[in-house]
Formats: sequence, structure tokens, C-alpha cells
Amino acid sequence: MRLLCDEMLGGLARWLRAAGYDAATPVPGDDDRRLIARAAVEQRLFLTRDRPIVQHKAAAGLVVLLESQHLDAQALELRRRLAVDWLAAPFTRCLRCNLRLDPAPPQALTRAPRQAQALAGPFRLCPGCGRLYWPGSHARRMRARLEAWAAGLQGDG
Ligand SMILES: [Zn+2]
Repeated sequence: MRLLCDEMLGGLARWLRAAGYDAATPVPGDDDRRLIARAAVEQRLFLTRDRPIVQHKAAAGLVVLLESQHLDAQALELRRRLAVDWLAAPFTRCLRCNLRLDPAPPQALTRAPRQAQALAGPFRLCPGCGRLYWPGSHARRMRARLEAWAAGLQGDG
């Protein structure tokens, strides 16, 4: 399942990426019509909170109108309505670029803080922006929230 999140759902898009989903976000300036067309071409479900978008003729079968306003509730709504698995493939995509991460080559690890370098890994690298990912305390906190959502519970925030 590939997704496109409207610009109001940028936070949700990052969490979908954290769970391993391909979750695109709009190019600045894209209007509703263009976004719906993009969803069709790229075979994505377009997630939005914007009710008028659903009224477009081309929206049928492509647009999912989220009822929930807050992140935790949206996460559980996606689990319920689209069977999103919040533990599908955690931390395999860049939170910024949405690209699939590669295993980090050993020389890239020197860019991590010293304590992080001591971790067992996995260390991963974004082929787009070059950001290095490692399983530190931030990733552990994010994983706890993903685990809560996967179990159908509200996260910690
Ligand atoms: Zn990136």
C-alpha cells in the first residue's frame, strides 16, 4: 500500500515512514486536482482531512477522508480502516525523503555520536539526503509508540 498525505498530515506521513510505508507528501503549490491525479498515476491512497477534496469526481476510490484530528487517533483510524500495520518494517525508510534506507557502510558510522557507535546496529543510511539512522533512545521511544498503535492503543503522546 502506497500513500500520499496532504500537507496538513505531514506528521502522520513521517510516522507512516517510520513504520516502513511509502508515504509521499505534496510538492509545494500542488492543488487538489493535481494531488488526486498524482495519487492515481502513482497508485497511492490520498489521505486528507479536507472534506471538499472528496467531492472531486476523480476522488472516488483514491481519497480517504480521515475523521480523527490528533495523531494517536489518526494512527488507530488507519489501523482500523486500512489495516495499517504500524510494525510493518520499522525504521527502513528516511523520515525526511521517504526513500528506502540502505545498510550504512562502516565509514559512515564515524558521523554518529560515540555512544551510538557502540550500539550493535543496524545502522542505515538514506541514499537521498545522506542522513544516518541508528537504534538509539529516540528510535526506541518511537518504536514504543508504534508498538502501542499496532496493539490498538493510544501512544504516549
Ligand atoms: Zn533522506
